Amino acid sequence: MFRLLTRQLGASSIPSSARLRLHFRTMATSSTPEFNKPLYAPLSQLDPEVQNIIDKETWRQFTGLELIASENLTSIATMEANGSILTNKYSEGLPGARYYGGNEYIDELEILCRKRALQAFNLDPAKWGVNVQPYAGTTANFAALTALLQPQDRLMGLGLADGGHLSHGYYTAKKNMTASSIYFQSMPYSITPDSNLIDYNTLASQAKIFRPKLIICGASAYPRDWDYATLKKIAEKEGAWLMADIAHTSGLVAAGTLSSPFNYCDVVTTTTHKTLRGPRAGLVFFRKDLENAKDLEKRVNDAVFPACQGGPHNNTIAAIATALLQVAQPSFREYAKQVIANARTLADTLVSHGYKLQTGGTDNHLVLWDLRPLGLTGSKVEKVCDLMGITINKNAVSGDASAQVPGGIRIGTSAITSRDMLEADVKIVAEFLHRAVQLSLLLQKEAGTKMLKDFVRVATVAEEGKTGFAMVRELREEVRAFAMKWPLPGVDVTTLSKPAGIEE
Ligand SMILES: *Cc1c(COP(=O)(O)O)cnc(C)c1O
Repeated sequence: MFRLLTRQLGASSIPSSARLRLHFRTMATSSTPEFNKPLYAPLSQLDPEVQNIIDKETWRQFTGLELIASENLTSIATMEANGSILTNKYSEGLPGARYYGGNEYIDELEILCRKRALQAFNLDPAKWGVNVQPYAGTTANFAALTALLQPQDRLMGLGLADGGHLSHGYYTAKKNMTASSIYFQSMPYSITPDSNLIDYNTLASQAKIFRPKLIICGASAYPRDWDYATLKKIAEKEGAWLMADIAHTSGLVAAGTLSSPFNYCDVVTTTTHKTLRGPRAGLVFFRKDLENAKDLEKRVNDAVFPACQGGPHNNTIAAIATALLQVAQPSFREYAKQVIANARTLADTLVSHGYKLQTGGTDNHLVLWDLRPLGLTGSKVEKVCDLMGITINKNAVSGDASAQVPGGIRIGTSAITSRDMLEADVKIVAEFLHRAVQLSLLLQKEAGTKMLKDFVRVATVAEEGKTGFAMVRELREEVRAFAMKWPLPGVDVTTLSKPAGIEE
C-alpha cells in the first residue's frame, strides 16, 4: 500500500498551501494497481527535482524585489482554483453548446466567470459580452483580429519601441515578426518626440493615408492614460474598428482609477495576470449592441474556438472567476489606488535624484526610466539589478538609436504593492534603484570598455583593485534583508527555509 500520507512529510520543503491541499487527497488503496500508484503521490515525493525548482523559485520570489511591470502576485484562492481537478475536463464550445458531455458544472463555471468579468468592469450585459477562454493575452488579441478582420486587412497599433506590444502588428525591416503582421498588414503609430505622449494628430493623418480596418490602442510600456474619445473619432472617420488592449492596466481600469475604454471601443482585450492579479490568461470583451455588427458576438466566439484555440483551460477559468470576484470588491479599488500612489512615489523619488523619466512621471503602475543622459544602457542596469535580487527589465525609450540596445528600464509597482508595501517602503526601493544605477556607473568605469561582457565580468568576479563586485554583493544582502520582511501570497514565509541548490 502506498502510505504517503501517513508518513511525516518534510514540512519545511512543502509550502503550506500544498500541505493544505494534501488533506483533501485520497490515498491509494491496497487494491490500487502499480501503474496507478503514481497518481496519488505528492509532488515532493514523486518528483523531488521539480519540487526543488518550485522551492527555489519560491525562495527567489521571497528574497527578491519584483519590479517587472507586467508581473503581479496572485492570491492563494486563485492558485488553488488553478491547481484544481478542473484541469481534467474537455469542454470545447460554449456553455449549453459543447462538443462533449459532462459539462453541466463547467457550464455553470463559465457562465459565472463571464458574469463576474462584466461586473468587475461595471458593464451592462445587454451591451457587452465576454469570452473567457483565451489562454493568454496574445491569443486573446489574435482571436480578436481574426474576428474583426479578413486576412491581409490593414491594422494600426502603437509601435513596439514606443511602448506597444508584439501582438499589435510588430515587424522589422527584414521580417514580419508576429502573427499580427504575418497575416495582416500593419503600420505603427507613435509617441511625440517632445512630450512622449501618444501622437494623436499624426495617427489621424497616417490613418487617413493607410486606411486601417482596425486601430488598436493600449500598451505595455506607456506611463500615461489614453484619450479614447479622440481615438474613437479617428477610427470612425476611417470606418475602422477600435480595439483597446488593456493587458497592463485592466486592474486599474476595473478599479476606476484610469479612464475606461468601454465607452468608446468595439472590442476590449486583456490579460488577467498583470494589474488584474489573476491567473495567466486572457479575456475578449465585445459590443453586443452595434447596429452595423449584430454578429460580433458570434464572430468573437468563433474566433476563439475553433479558429484559434481548442479546449478551454477550465482550471484557469475557475481561477479567473475567483480573481474577478476579488476585483469587484471595494478592497481592490484600494489596492489599485495604492499601486498608483506607489508608482508616483517611485517616480518622484527618482526625479528628486535628478533622473530623467519618460513623460516625467506616471499616471499608472509603471515608470520608464531614461538612462541615456547617464551614459548607461538598460541591459547593464538590468544586469546589476538582477545580481542584487531586484527584477526589472530593459526597455526602449523614445528616440533610441537601436532597438537592440534599449536606453531605459521599465519598473512597476503592482507586485510590491501585493506584498503590502506603501509609499514609505517604496522610497526605500527607489533608493536601492538609485544605488544600483550609481553602482552601474562605477562598474562601467571599472570595466574599462563599454562592452556588456566586460561590465558583467567586473560585476560578477572579484578583481584586484576594483570595488564594484564587493558593492554588488553588499547591496544584494541589503535587498535580501529588506525583501524577507514582507509576506508572499500563497506561501507561509514563517516556515520557509532556503532550499537546496541555491547559492547565496
Ligand atoms: C502582456 C501583454 C500582452 C500579452 O500577454 P501574454 O499573456 O503574455 O500573451 C498583450 N498585450 C499587451 C499590451 C501586453 O502588455
